Amino acid sequence: TRQESLLVSRMSRSLELRESARETLAGGVASSWQDTVPGAIWIEYGQAQRIRDVDGNDYVDMHGGFGVGLAGHAHPAVVEALTGRARLGTHFGQPTEDLIAVSRLLRERFGLPVWRFGNSGTEATMDAVHLMRVATGRKKIIKVEGSYHGHHDSVQVSTYSADGDIGPDDAPRSVAFGPAYPSEVVELTLVVPFGDLEAVRRVLEAHAGQVAGMIIEPIMMNIGMITADEGYHAELKALLHSHGAYLAYDEVKTGLAVAPGGATELYGVTPDIVCLAKALGGGVPCGAIGATAELMELVADNTYQQVGTFNGNPLTMAAVRAVLTEVLTPAAYAHLDAMRAHMADGVTELMARYEIPGYVASAGAKGSVIFTDRLRNYRDFLRYADQWGHAHWLYQINGGIFLPPWGKTEQFTLSVQHTMDDARRFVANFETLCRAVR
Ligand code: PLP
Repeated sequence: TRQESLLVSRMSRSLELRESARETLAGGVASSWQDTVPGAIWIEYGQAQRIRDVDGNDYVDMHGGFGVGLAGHAHPAVVEALTGRARLGTHFGQPTEDLIAVSRLLRERFGLPVWRFGNSGTEATMDAVHLMRVATGRKKIIKVEGSYHGHHDSVQVSTYSADGDIGPDDAPRSVAFGPAYPSEVVELTLVVPFGDLEAVRRVLEAHAGQVAGMIIEPIMMNIGMITADEGYHAELKALLHSHGAYLAYDEVKTGLAVAPGGATELYGVTPDIVCLAKALGGGVPCGAIGATAELMELVADNTYQQVGTFNGNPLTMAAVRAVLTEVLTPAAYAHLDAMRAHMADGVTELMARYEIPGYVASAGAKGSVIFTDRLRNYRDFLRYADQWGHAHWLYQINGGIFLPPWGKTEQFTLSVQHTMDDARRFVANFETLCRAVR
């Protein structure tokens, strides 16, 4: 309570703006997850790794705009690409040459030969689901319980369900995310716990010949951060293929962030489809799917018309090209790894010293402090309380670091413009929390 009061005492202008915004903006925010406890923090500007809010507070930004922020704010290469393109016109509904360069760069990183673009992670995962359905003539898909893949009907299933009845561990129930999602669609999405091959096998056998494919975050985000056991991904791909079903990786959060070629590179397993968004655009809206030549032939021949007014928007493509060539370089990845390792090691040591239950999960630019000994899947996640996560968020923000505000669900994101001092500050803030708890 003291930490919350301290924060609120610094955010009077933000709270005022939220109240006045409520008149014309539903809930006083632009997207339902922009509101936080104790209220949305309104931003004046961002520069490098820092943001300034409308009350004049400066924070080191490790929220990264929901994991977008690998480039940091106003990165000179991104600014130059955007302003250069803006002077030449920003939208034509016709292709520009950056598309070729970008798709080649993505092919190199992810090993998938053919690409298409969109404007968000939601569009990318929607295209992936459509493409798997078109390729197989089957309607059902499998998704992991607790995974968030965006807000289209097929995947708003068993994500932070309010409903309560998630079914038994060995027969999970598909739960709509709310009244917006019709049961007829929700029933086509079959759910399995993360990391459980036997569960996938059971579903494929029970729905033999009906499953188009599976969409999965290869490293699960949005409920903290969970990695799979050695061998899981290769076996999953083989299992799905043996049932004539496809594998789509949702790398909206992991792509570019955990390695240059995302979790696809990290695990050495190339899926049939990979979905990208977030960090790819360096701060402008973007989405992309890469797929096998066989699948993309169905797009090329218009069996699946993958369309969108803003697809391949020149401004976006200019930014993406700069991100892939000038921002996320090999040296940048080494810098991200060094900072993240310092944070993970520092917090791990403090948790042991102060006997705080849990551990740190991390890879590349991303990490999450998990305040429980065992987090394997959504069911483990639902079982543990969020006081630690929320307290951690408060101690970090009051110590000058802005993390994603939902305690146990989220991850930090580092940018190439963060410094070792920022990493040290994160560990120091964590120690302040440990001392307060003691
Ligand atoms: N997939 C994952 C793993 C995500 O974390 C998100 C957003 O948080 C999405 C898809 C949806 O992306 P967008 O919000 O750009 O539609």
